[in-house]
Amino acid sequence: MKIVVLDGYTLNPGDLSWNGLDKLGDVTVYDRTSYNQNDKGLIVERVGDAEIVFTNKTPLTEEMLKEMPNLKYIGVLATGYNVVDVKAAKDRGIVVTNIPTYGTMAVAQMTFALLLEMCHHVWAHSEDVKNGAWTNNVDWCFWNYPLIELEGKNIGIIGFGRIGKAVGQIAQAFGMKVLVYDRSPNLELASNTLKYVELEELLSESDVISLHCPLLESTTGIINKNTINKMKENVILINTSRGPLINEFDLAEALNNGRISGAAVDVVSSEPIKEDNPLLKAKNIIITPHIAWAPIEARSRLLDIAINNLEKYLAGSQINVVNL
Ligand code: NAD
Repeated sequence: MKIVVLDGYTLNPGDLSWNGLDKLGDVTVYDRTSYNQNDKGLIVERVGDAEIVFTNKTPLTEEMLKEMPNLKYIGVLATGYNVVDVKAAKDRGIVVTNIPTYGTMAVAQMTFALLLEMCHHVWAHSEDVKNGAWTNNVDWCFWNYPLIELEGKNIGIIGFGRIGKAVGQIAQAFGMKVLVYDRSPNLELASNTLKYVELEELLSESDVISLHCPLLESTTGIINKNTINKMKENVILINTSRGPLINEFDLAEALNNGRISGAAVDVVSSEPIKEDNPLLKAKNIIITPHIAWAPIEARSRLLDIAINNLEKYLAGSQINVVNL
């Protein structure tokens, strides 16, 4: 049985093993293929007569599927499976699976890595020291940025699912008060330190706002000029969810004119980030290259689940199928 991995590099740049897949068939792993639907020829050629294909971000459209006569199974190496036309796959009897959860704590941890960096500017201070600023300082210490203590501050969490809840727990351990906006509130979770609120209240009362809702039509651009204007001036905005939740032009403008004090994002509207993305030149923003999911522990878990999904499919019992 032929198995093709179309874009294995970001999941396994060499620190994990494909051996678990090798046991299931004749495996060809491509580091990368294409993110572009227009590269149909290359994608179809690489899948060839394989029965099993794994993709992370390489698109598999209806037009492509039509030219993959033996294909029976598509394993998406991620949670989001929008790169696959799942309906067209279903119509052709192709099973599509995903990895529903593998990195909740990794993303929650990264959210706090970004927030703590905004509070202490650890890296910038260390660089200043290495460049001689402490050696030549008249006082016994110095700081070049305002330093922020989180205890007693409000964190507003938009989207209180797996990751949002994990962020809420960490925030409570820091002594923060948690304000939650979720489309389906679970009021049993409310406590002295956790309150469900409407979006308006979250925006106006939060010192930190962290986005953890999925990207949907209703959440696209949820952070825009209008919602930013309701925020406190000293708010710190964190986005480890999906780039298009934020109108980046509006955020860049708000950062540049001091309307809000800082932001940190792990995701942007188009990835890899485009040269003309306005956030690249905005003030007081940290941008990381979509790494929240990527600690080796989380990637290893992801690969194990992907292999288990295929094993179960081959044994006749389907798990994590998204196009039943
Ligand atoms: P989840 O499905 O467990 O939680 C999502 C929550 O958002 C749910 O509670 C849901 O009710 C809520 N929600 C849905 N629509 C909403 C709306 N319109 N307004 C407010 N709340 C709404 O998902 P999760 O596992 O917590 O993941 C959250 C997001 O994190 C994912 O959608 C994904 O985009 C992102 N993510 C990012 C990385 C990364 O590497 N940066 C990795 C994994 C996941």
